[in-house]
Amino acid sequence: MRDKIVAGNWKMNNDLAQTEDLLSNIKKLYKENREVRVIVAPAFTNLHHAFESLRDSPIDVAAQNMNEHKEGAYTGEVSAQMLSSIGIKIVILGHSERRAIFNETDALLAKKVDAALENDMEVIFCCGEELSERKGEKHFEVVKSQLENGLFHVAEGQWSKIVIAYEPVWAIGTGETASPEQAQEMHAFIRKTIAEKFGSELANKVAILYGGSVKPANAQEIFAKEDVDGGLIGGASLKAEDFIAIAEAF
Ligand code: PEP
Repeated sequence: MRDKIVAGNWKMNNDLAQTEDLLSNIKKLYKENREVRVIVAPAFTNLHHAFESLRDSPIDVAAQNMNEHKEGAYTGEVSAQMLSSIGIKIVILGHSERRAIFNETDALLAKKVDAALENDMEVIFCCGEELSERKGEKHFEVVKSQLENGLFHVAEGQWSKIVIAYEPVWAIGTGETASPEQAQEMHAFIRKTIAEKFGSELANKVAILYGGSVKPANAQEIFAKEDVDGGLIGGASLKAEDFIAIAEAF
C-alpha cells in the first residue's frame, strides 16, 4: 500500500493573518483520515507559525523551496538545516515555477535533493513537461530526463523519503487539467522508469502525485487511477473547503 497524499502549495500567497485564517478553517473542516496524508506548504515567513498551529494535528507542513548550501554568504536564502530547526521536515523541490522563473536546473535540483536528505527531510520532487513538449510528443523523454538528472542519484535506502509530483506545466494554474488517462499514462511511465533503475519493489512504494488544476470537481476521477497516489494542489489549496474536499476525494 502506498501513501496517499494531498499537499497544498500556497505559493507566494497569504500574509500572517491570512495564514492564520486559512489554517483555522482547514483545521475546522479536517476530519482525521488515516488513509490520506495532508500537507500544507505556506511561504517561508509563515512556516514557523503553521508548524506551531498544526502541532497537535496530523496535518504536516512543507517548505516550497530551499537552498542547496549548508550555510554562508547566500543573501536571501534558507537552508535545509534552518527548516529542520523549526520542525519542517518536508520540502517541495523543482516546481515548474522555480525551474522557469528562477532558472533551476536538474543539476541544481540534484544538489538540493541531497541537502534535504542529509537533513533527514522528505522531498516532493516535481517534474512535468511544457505544452510545446507535449505537442511535440517529447513529454515522456522530458520527464525521464528530469528524473534521471535530478533524482536518480538518490541511493535506494533513501527512497522512502521521496515523493514525486507529476505536474504538466500546461495544466498549472490554467484551469486545463490533464485527463485522468493522461495522468495515469505518465504516472505509469514514471513508475516503470523508476522500476527499470531501482526494481519494481521500490518503484511500487513511491507515491506519485498529480498536480495541475485539480479541484473538488475533478479530484475523484484523477485519484481513482491506479498510479495516481494523490495531488499537489495550487489554486484550490487556498480555499479550505476546496482543499479539504480534494483531500476527501479518494
Ligand atoms: C501547482 O502550482 O503546484 C499547481 C498544481 O497549481 P494549480 O493547482 O493551481 O494548477
